[in-house]
Amino acid sequence: MNTDLLKKKLHKDSDGYQDAFDAFEAFKKENGMQGDEHGSSDKSSSDADSGQLDVQELGMVNRFKAQKKHFVWHFVILILMAVLVIYRASIASYNVSAVNWVCFIFFFVIQYVDHYFSKKKYNHNGALLQTVKIASLVSVVLVMGSFDFEGVMSAVCSLLYVVLVLEYLECVDITSSEIKDRVAVLTSAIYIAGCIVMSLIIGHKVNFVDYAMFIITAGVLVFYLVQQVYNHIDQFVGYIITLNQRNTELTSANSSINDQSRKIKEAVDLLGVQKIELSKAYETISRHSSEMELNNEILNIITEQKDMVKFTKQITETISYGVDKVKICGLFIDGAMNSPVFPLANVCVPGDKDKDVKEKLISKASDILADIHNFDSVYAVDIGDIPSPYSDVCNAGVKALMRIQIQIEGSMCGGIIIGVDDIKYFDEDTKNFYLNIATQIGIGVNNSNLYATMENLATKDGLTGIYNRRHFNKLFNDYVTDAMDNRYPIAAALFDIDKFKNVNDTYGHSFGDLVIVTVAHIADEVVRAHGGILGRYGGEEFIMAFLNMKSDELMPIVTEIHEKIKAVELDHNGETVKVNVSIGVTDYPNICANPAELLNHADSAMYYSKQHGRGRITLDSDEVRKEVIM
Ligand code: GH3
Ligand code: MG
Ligand code: MG
Repeated sequence: MNTDLLKKKLHKDSDGYQDAFDAFEAFKKENGMQGDEHGSSDKSSSDADSGQLDVQELGMVNRFKAQKKHFVWHFVILILMAVLVIYRASIASYNVSAVNWVCFIFFFVIQYVDHYFSKKKYNHNGALLQTVKIASLVSVVLVMGSFDFEGVMSAVCSLLYVVLVLEYLECVDITSSEIKDRVAVLTSAIYIAGCIVMSLIIGHKVNFVDYAMFIITAGVLVFYLVQQVYNHIDQFVGYIITLNQRNTELTSANSSINDQSRKIKEAVDLLGVQKIELSKAYETISRHSSEMELNNEILNIITEQKDMVKFTKQITETISYGVDKVKICGLFIDGAMNSPVFPLANVCVPGDKDKDVKEKLISKASDILADIHNFDSVYAVDIGDIPSPYSDVCNAGVKALMRIQIQIEGSMCGGIIIGVDDIKYFDEDTKNFYLNIATQIGIGVNNSNLYATMENLATKDGLTGIYNRRHFNKLFNDYVTDAMDNRYPIAAALFDIDKFKNVNDTYGHSFGDLVIVTVAHIADEVVRAHGGILGRYGGEEFIMAFLNMKSDELMPIVTEIHEKIKAVELDHNGETVKVNVSIGVTDYPNICANPAELLNHADSAMYYSKQHGRGRITLDSDEVRKEVIM
């Protein structure tokens, strides 16, 4: 250990260590120690460099300080003891017994042992040494009590004990501990008890020196106790300060935890908000996605479905089942050319929960169309404001209803109604979505009309509206295939207006057209009613065919047509004009075994009628064909 460094350290740490250092220096001289206690200059320089003060060396410094006091106390006590012994021996004339000398010598032996352990750097205040010291005290007290000594013996024992206690306390100063404190108190208590026993019970005579020693001992003990209390107060204050520091640290940590907790809560709140926003975004995306899906499905229906009945059914079902909130969807069309009924209405209630509502709405189709016609193109109402034509929708759980016009090139051709179970459902986006759907439906109806027009042009006769010959032949061929496959019969009839040239010549060509149209419509109505097909075969010739029908079943139908034509009275400038037709009837396979020849057979039967007076019906037969002059 570098002594300069030690000195510096001691100055730095406390001025009070100056004494200890002086004692250390004195001790070194006394024991012949060199500057480096460890005998290693490298080690000491290493310690100096590191700036660390060796704990063991610091302990030694404290110990030398204590040794210094220890020697002073020894000196003082020995002087006191000598004075008192001389005083008691000379004045009180007491003899010093062998036991007294034994105790006296025993004390010095103990001191020597103590000193030996000190030099060995052991803890001279160890439990073994203390036990020996206490044992010596107890034996002194017992000896005093047994032999009832007085005077010098008492004084010497008192002194011995004071020395023991003082030395013990001095030792405690160096390495204080709870056990040593207890031992100090115990030994003091034993001495006081010994004095009391000696004076009161055994009858030991208490003199001035006893009291003096007793007071000195008690004073030293009180001083020690006060010092201990003071030390403990320091410790207690230190403990309180430490506790306060810990408390401050804990408060700081707690505040930090609270801060973290608050931040975590904020983060959790933020996450919650983001979760809600994400869920809203997800809802919007899913809604848009399902709307797109719905749009696609409707687009498919519009482009592919030409049958208006199926068209309206598919549209209403797609919307009703495709949108969660929709409880009813109705489509009302009065502008479709190929609709079988006017207006064409279709209503879908998902799950068909309430068929009554469906029927009632369909029955009010005209009123509904009139209502939609009176309002804007889009009109949404909540429950309570739903007008009378739609009052039944409430039974299907509808809480808000929207009706939209369906238009073709700006003209209303129908309307759609959407009923939902949520009064806040129809916002601007939703309205636009359904308006877009209504526009698409309008396009669909328009396409259907265009298709119907094209189809009519291709398949129907422009004047009469019945099938043209080409399309009739196509349908007839289908009949033939069907008949061959299923062994069905086919019945066919052909008729021609009699003396039609005269009509044209007499009343004009336009009137002739009117006659042709009138005859065609009469025949078409009857043929349709019986499930057959009718075509314009030539100028004023018409052909009809019925699948799965024999000629005898066709005869009454043809007769009905004939009667109705004959009954027609057309007016031409006040003049009543009547017409008649000649008819030929045949069938497959009863009369005509070859279906390809069926129409020729009908034709020859018709000619037979012409050649046999006109205005009559002829059933085909071999005889008829033989007689006909083609
Ligand atoms: P028949 O009793 O023998 O049948 O005598 P008909 O005068 O009817 O003789 P036919 O059948 O040969 O005459 C058909 C006439 O019908 C010839 C033609 O001018 C006329 N015609 C054909 N198509 C049309 C048409 O679309 N409109 C009008 N107004 N007349 C037509
Ligand atoms: Mg004719
Ligand atoms: Mg003709």
